[in-house]
Amino acid sequence: MLGKLTRWLRMLGHDVEYSKSLDDDQLIARAKEEGRVLLTRDLKLYQRAISRGTDTFLVEGKTEDEKLAELAKRFSLKLEIDVATSYCPKCNTRIELVSKEEVAEHVPKTTYAYYNEFWKCPKCGQIYWQGAHWKRIETTLRKARETLENSDLRSV
Ligand SMILES: [Zn+2]
Repeated sequence: MLGKLTRWLRMLGHDVEYSKSLDDDQLIARAKEEGRVLLTRDLKLYQRAISRGTDTFLVEGKTEDEKLAELAKRFSLKLEIDVATSYCPKCNTRIELVSKEEVAEHVPKTTYAYYNEFWKCPKCGQIYWQGAHWKRIETTLRKARETLENSDLRSV
């Protein structure tokens, strides 16, 4: 249910596992085993995790920026992307800065001409650059920061 949020958190530099195939008991056991916080929108799963002493957080926000703001508040996350610390949104592996030459064959010509910084996932091979979509990413993060600031005001 939180696939999109998972990709956001990875971009923000967090090691986040995601599973559609595990059932509730397996998810709780896995989170506990690996010392992870279980993020869920499912109140029953959340309550069950608490009753078993597993760290868990109930994500209630509707939009991505609301969800990110909630998590930032609870876990003191920084709502800014530093690509040097990003994990691959697809496979949760730290991405690496690569030389322009290295990606020449793998990105569109116009992209190659226009951008100078490229990152590559050593595991799945996905190549990243701060292309046109980056504006949307920045907009969502800015909204999330605003939402966070407003929620701080309300709680005073
Ligand atoms: Zn990857």
